[in-house]
Amino acid sequence: MPDIIRLLPDSLANQIAAGEVVQRPASAIKELLENSIDAGADEVTVIIKDAGKTMMQIMDNGKGMSETDARMSLERHATSKITKTEDLFSIRTMGFRGEALASIAAVSQMEIKTRQEGEELGTLIAVEASEIKKQEPVVCDKGTSICIKNLFYNVPARRNFLKSNGVEMKHIVEEFQRVALANPEVKFSLYQNDLETYSLPGGKLSQRIIGLFGKNYREQLASCSEEMAEVKIYGYIGKPEFARKTRGEQFFFVNNRFIKSNYLNHAVMNAFEGLLPDGSFPFYVLFIELDPVHVDINVHPTKTEIKFDDERTIYTLVRAAVKQALATHNITPTIDFQA
Ligand code: ADP
Ligand code: MG
Repeated sequence: MPDIIRLLPDSLANQIAAGEVVQRPASAIKELLENSIDAGADEVTVIIKDAGKTMMQIMDNGKGMSETDARMSLERHATSKITKTEDLFSIRTMGFRGEALASIAAVSQMEIKTRQEGEELGTLIAVEASEIKKQEPVVCDKGTSICIKNLFYNVPARRNFLKSNGVEMKHIVEEFQRVALANPEVKFSLYQNDLETYSLPGGKLSQRIIGLFGKNYREQLASCSEEMAEVKIYGYIGKPEFARKTRGEQFFFVNNRFIKSNYLNHAVMNAFEGLLPDGSFPFYVLFIELDPVHVDINVHPTKTEIKFDDERTIYTLVRAAVKQALATHNITPTIDFQA
């Protein structure tokens, strides 16, 4: 019998991997925003057309890429962020898997323009379904601009699976908010179909919260800060009377990475016990900082699920930080919600 096992061609392997990394336009936005942050940008502009279905562009003023690196950035498992196994245990960057650009390029028409400081000319690379169509020198600003057109144009099943523009845009705004909250010192703008919907100057976290969610948040924030056993917790919670009927505005960041955790959410709810009317959810933006050796962020490709070595300590600290913030603002469980 002949042997039948073959290695997949790169373009096909990338397309299969893309299924995990890029579920929808918002996943691409998340990856590109994180790359801009990792590149040290302090100004990032996002342009979206048709909820990202026809066009998404992200421009940053970060460190840019050399011509060779720009070409390499499209290879799968190609990254400048880690080099050896040990690095996995001390990750300080948002990215490290080296799959995002390769995956997005496998399922779209992508154009990269990038220039490093001190270089006269930058590099332009156009790629379609993993195939390089063009590579040439270009006059461009310092930093990187990546434009993604027609996401999933070559994967009809995925394209048809996309939700309405309203729903897809909501996911994009969510990712934008998360990165904007984690990096308040960075200036961000978001344009939707030529309309600027967010314009956020760099500043403090409280200003970022107000810039994203509205001026009425100004009076509603209680600051949080707790430090113990080399774990630091800081951020803001919304006062109980500001709680909403929907769960939307609740954010945890671990070492500046947005994460989802029902367990830690429970710690916050527990601290608010007796203060909230049934079925309402408090606003919070909480940052947890700890030595990266004590967290595993490589649990899932999108990195929103993580594992702590000692989850219980983190739980206790989060609850303590929220309780302390409530106490500092003289919020005690005596409010009568029946009145
Ligand atoms: P990862 O972020 O996990 O390294 P990506 O596929 O997202 O993988 O990016 C591959 C590489 O391309 C990065 O490691 C980085 O060196 C480079 N890169 C991507 N985006 C940018 C950017 N906006 N500015 C500078 N370099 C970038
Ligand atoms: Mg990345």
